[in-house]
Amino acid sequence: MISTATSNSRWREERIREDEILRYIPGGRDFIDGADIPGLLSRETKAPDRAEVREILAKSLSVKDLTLEETARLIRVTDPALLEEMRAAALQVKLKVYDNRIVTFAPFYLGNYCVNRCAYCGFNEDNVGAKRKVLNEEEIRREVAVLAGEIGHKRLIVVYGEHPRNDVDYIAKSLETIYSVRVKTRNGFGSIRRVNVNAPPFSVGDLKKIGDVGLGTYQVFQETYHKETYARMHPKTTIKGHYPWRLTAMHRAMEAGIDDVGIGALFGLYDWRYELLALVAHTQELEKRMGVGAHTISFPRLVPALNSMIGPDWPYLVGDEEFKRIMMIIRLAVPYTGMIITAREKASIRDEAVHLGVTQMDASSRIAIGGYSDCVTEQDKVKQQFILGDTRSLDELIRDMASRGFITSFCTAGYRCGRTGKCIMDLLRSGTEGKFCKLNAVLTFQEWLDDFATDETRRLAQPLIDREVAEIRAKNPQVLDIFTGYLERIKKGERDLYL
Ligand code: SAM
Ligand code: SF4
Repeated sequence: MISTATSNSRWREERIREDEILRYIPGGRDFIDGADIPGLLSRETKAPDRAEVREILAKSLSVKDLTLEETARLIRVTDPALLEEMRAAALQVKLKVYDNRIVTFAPFYLGNYCVNRCAYCGFNEDNVGAKRKVLNEEEIRREVAVLAGEIGHKRLIVVYGEHPRNDVDYIAKSLETIYSVRVKTRNGFGSIRRVNVNAPPFSVGDLKKIGDVGLGTYQVFQETYHKETYARMHPKTTIKGHYPWRLTAMHRAMEAGIDDVGIGALFGLYDWRYELLALVAHTQELEKRMGVGAHTISFPRLVPALNSMIGPDWPYLVGDEEFKRIMMIIRLAVPYTGMIITAREKASIRDEAVHLGVTQMDASSRIAIGGYSDCVTEQDKVKQQFILGDTRSLDELIRDMASRGFITSFCTAGYRCGRTGKCIMDLLRSGTEGKFCKLNAVLTFQEWLDDFATDETRRLAQPLIDREVAEIRAKNPQVLDIFTGYLERIKKGERDLYL
């Protein structure tokens, strides 16, 4: 009989396909080498003057990508008055491209077995104290029943460790299960309409299998683009220790026909300036080589985890003020790319983040495996990858966003109408997508209020919908009849209507 350790190590060896890496690293030089980030950071040592900054901001405001040099210049700004101008410009860019919408989702952890040993993660294989679990089909259904039937989520990001127990077949099957659940709600029914995946890098063949069952966005975070730090964090003998396999994950995803890819860096592992430029270089590389840039950028910041090897005196931890700068510079550098902030961050930072350009955030998040249906509300380091900073419910978040003038959108229509990949990026660039999105955001917001909101939230949010309808009447009168017709049908209990 083959031992588990032997079969796991064979599984490990079979995963990485050198040929699927090398075609994206011509001559052995990848795009991070090509971007020469250390050179850029040392060349751009002088803070730019007011005129230079304003010229760069004007470019962002016309919804054009910044170059790496321009982004490096913004990184150098320290003058409080100029930082304030950057902050105002980031909000303007966001409102221009995404209007006052914020998209919401929930994280859903399906399995925490992992063969890797990332120095910062509670799922690290060496972490013998971690409670391990992979959800079976029945348990997945139970979790989705809470997510879609009690909380009201329509969009999930499902998360997996890297392990034979949650391999590609398990992932594909779990997506099918999630999409199949339909639950009765107060006035209609609830279901999950878009499932995004945060998983390890795969081969093109494996990615096609996941793509075939209706994958939304495929996310892989590089963690750190800085090679020496990457090697320190991820032992060489592990799959994750293979930097180029991870760096080319999104190239393979696009080769496999996955339109929407999400990149990210784990801020706090290395110098944030380096990581920020590398993220911009990554999306530029995808656009240049694969025809479309990243659909979303994530910027998780390190938080405490069980037996994390990174202590409070690690030199690269990112403070709140720096973190806010990171967000606004990303918004300015890539004006139409989705930006995701998760509940790792505390509520006050997330509230500010929507004014700095963020477009998506989770709520009512539970990250222990099986955490939605087991109803345990306190956080548990032994079961979770890390500890959450914002434990607000979706109802509370929606109320807080409404009081700031933001509509929470549950819209997933664009993807189901084929508005993905290059198509959606072009629509966002031209401002056309915003028109569809606004209508669908209002329809889905109304649906959620009818099905799930507390009285207090409905009382606060309903005037926002009325204001939006008035705006549609004034600015988009040709769609008013069809739109108000849909709104009435939703109020009568029809669900999942979109334009
Ligand atoms: N196992 C897969 C992988 O590593 O690609 C995906 C799932 S992993 C659970 C999702 C992400 O969580 C990682 O890519 C990493 O950026 C983030 N993460 C891990 N440990 C963290 C910590 N202590 N604080 C904040 N984020 C963390
Ligand atoms: Fe495993 Fe991902 Fe955690 Fe690394 S970050 S230990 S790969 S779950």
